Amino acid sequence: MSWLWGIDLGGTKIEGAILDASMQPVLRERVDTGQDRGYGHILMQISELVAKMSEKSGIARPDRIGIGTPGRTEGPDGVVKNSNTVCLNGMPLLKDLREVLQMEVAIENDANCFALAESMMGAGRDEMLVPGAMAFGIILGTGVGGGIVSDGRIIRGAHGIAGEWGHNPIPGEYAPCYCGRQGCVETVISGPALEGFYASMSRRHLGLREIAAACGRDPIAKMTIDRLVSSFGKALGAVINILDPDVVIIGGGVGNIRQLYTAEARQSIAAHVFNHTFDIPVLPPLLGDSAGVFGAALLNGPATPETAMRD
Ligand SMILES: [Zn+2]
Repeated sequence: MSWLWGIDLGGTKIEGAILDASMQPVLRERVDTGQDRGYGHILMQISELVAKMSEKSGIARPDRIGIGTPGRTEGPDGVVKNSNTVCLNGMPLLKDLREVLQMEVAIENDANCFALAESMMGAGRDEMLVPGAMAFGIILGTGVGGGIVSDGRIIRGAHGIAGEWGHNPIPGEYAPCYCGRQGCVETVISGPALEGFYASMSRRHLGLREIAAACGRDPIAKMTIDRLVSSFGKALGAVINILDPDVVIIGGGVGNIRQLYTAEARQSIAAHVFNHTFDIPVLPPLLGDSAGVFGAALLNGPATPETAMRD
């Protein structure tokens, strides 16, 4: 039996999972990240988690493990950049984890892990049964990111930025973005951007879920959600014209807004797609918080939807 081991390295917790050959989880385990205690402490926590997983499951330590984490790694040593767990930035995480764990390590960012798990085990599983099928997995939350999966593999691109649609421009939008550009997708349809839009018009601070729920009675709430739906259509239409994926899955907090899955939302995307029909499924995720750690485990093996778990 070959087991798939994965670890989701987050800012507050580190979660591990072991999947069997049919991608069924056989063990989940978590420890605190303790990022205030520094980089060395995080390496130790991961090492202890792996030992604990082996002990609890009775499964021998693996030869290789997948790690998912926000941010990017660069170069042969896997130096971290853009992580919100700031003590990881500038550190050779890949090299150090290989040394500490004494095994082969694959590291991917959390958006790519989400895309891999949801496409192969979750919402996109049926569409991915077709040979050569491609999925675009979106993180739409505090930030906006994404990952591309084709034939069970993450498409990373020449510089590791494939799928990063959050900093594409939306036509007609000019708000400055932290990245130095203007009118980025993230400045319009991220959760904070939409909540800020509502607050600037209404002088009231509401969370996006409350804004979405108030659409029937609050014209500014409706305007905010209309802005989400129309801008999402523009932004996703541009991506679809490049990738032409078989399925799109929307994760992150904004992905829970039901107005993104209506006929009106589909029309808003279709209006920007260079084709006379628009039949690509745009789906909410199925795996919840588990997508990150399952995606990390799938980094170890050629995932095929034929072997994916069935509920
Ligand atoms: Zn930007």
